[in-house]
Amino acid sequence: MSASDTPLVEMRNIEKFYGRIHALKNVNLTIPRGEIVGLLGDNGAGKSTLIKVLSGAVPYTSGEIRINGQPLNLRSTNDAIDAGIETIYQDSALVPQLSIARNLFLGRELRSGPRFLDRLDQERMNQVAGELLKRVGISKNIPPTTPIGSLSGGERQAVAIARAMYFDSELIILDEPTNNLGVAETQGVLRFVRDARDSGHSCIFIAHNIHHVFQVVDRMVVMRRGEIVADDLSPKTSSIQDVEDIITGEHIAA
Ligand code: ATP
Repeated sequence: MSASDTPLVEMRNIEKFYGRIHALKNVNLTIPRGEIVGLLGDNGAGKSTLIKVLSGAVPYTSGEIRINGQPLNLRSTNDAIDAGIETIYQDSALVPQLSIARNLFLGRELRSGPRFLDRLDQERMNQVAGELLKRVGISKNIPPTTPIGSLSGGERQAVAIARAMYFDSELIILDEPTNNLGVAETQGVLRFVRDARDSGHSCIFIAHNIHHVFQVVDRMVVMRRGEIVADDLSPKTSSIQDVEDIITGEHIAA
């Protein structure tokens, strides 16, 4: 297998117990480079647990995770970020009082001058932030010094996606990024996700709204009661009804 054929992410035989609750049952999932994978399932199916495991937020009980073919020892969210995995939650960890630029560089601030002065390079951060806002397609002229608190939900998601793209995260996990957004804002977020894919990033996209999933993903994975029950559904060949039947288990009853 050549290096380019090696999948970006491989989860192998992942098991997760919360006490006696078996939240992930022998999960095997492969994410190639440059693909948007939709992760679907009813409440309690195990989607959040799967992405928390992959983002280092909760430890898994057994199994193996490989990134670019290399086994990964995930003990914290920082381990995941160092391995190129960035997770954006619906209430993404942005600080409303701080500017767009400061939020983009939160925890990874650019500094200027000698190290001991520990001075933030505000000017450079503002400049990079301005360029990034253009790149993710925020067309309105929003200065990078604007506090995050005055942005709309869709614009905040755009800032979070811009951050993942700037720090060259290979895998961007989006957990319900279109929740509570209006129609135009949702379209904007779906466009940013496609832009991220087109510039070589892989994405895992979780959304309760199956129509949003169909608009953006290359492939769909369905979980039910902790198991992956389908992992290669295409929005081109499956209908929304087909996928809903798999989510609820209706296709078995039929
Ligand atoms: P939703 O769409 O409702 O968020 P989900 O598919 O993300 O659901 P999970 O949140 O991963 O599902 O839950 C999977 C199972 O694990 C459920 O039975 C849930 O009750 C259980 N679970 C999740 N987190 C914990 C926890 N911290 N402690 C104990 N049980 C948990």
